[in-house]
Amino acid sequence: MEKTLFEKIADHEIPADIVYEDEQCVAFRDISPVAPQHVLLVPRKALSSIAAASQEDASLLAHLMLKVGEIARMLGIEEEGFRTVLNTGARAGQTVPHLHIHILGGRDLQWPPG
Ligand code: AMP
Repeated sequence: MEKTLFEKIADHEIPADIVYEDEQCVAFRDISPVAPQHVLLVPRKALSSIAAASQEDASLLAHLMLKVGEIARMLGIEEEGFRTVLNTGARAGQTVPHLHIHILGGRDLQWPPG
């Protein structure tokens, strides 16, 4: 099956500004940032969205959640606050069919989101 864009980034086949990686996940700067700090955290496993995850992905999902705080600390936005976003499907504007967690910070973020 054709690799997703984010699998290619995780496999270093497409360049990206990688800020963190390990055996299960990769985090890199969004190419079109919407905040001063905007990083995408993706699993190496090709899951199309959070809705496609199953019980067998439980430890992977826990790993990703734990990395969010670590990456936010690394970016210097943990204390002031930041937002994590998972867009899922067309109505939420998901454009890349590979699970990705947006980590956004460095400015005030409005609620509710658009
Ligand atoms: P979403 O709209 O939630 O699917 O988010 C996809 C994100 O991927 C968008 O914020 C894009 O700017 C970002 N993006 C697309 N292509 C790349 C790329 N080559 N490198 C880094 N980020 C990308």
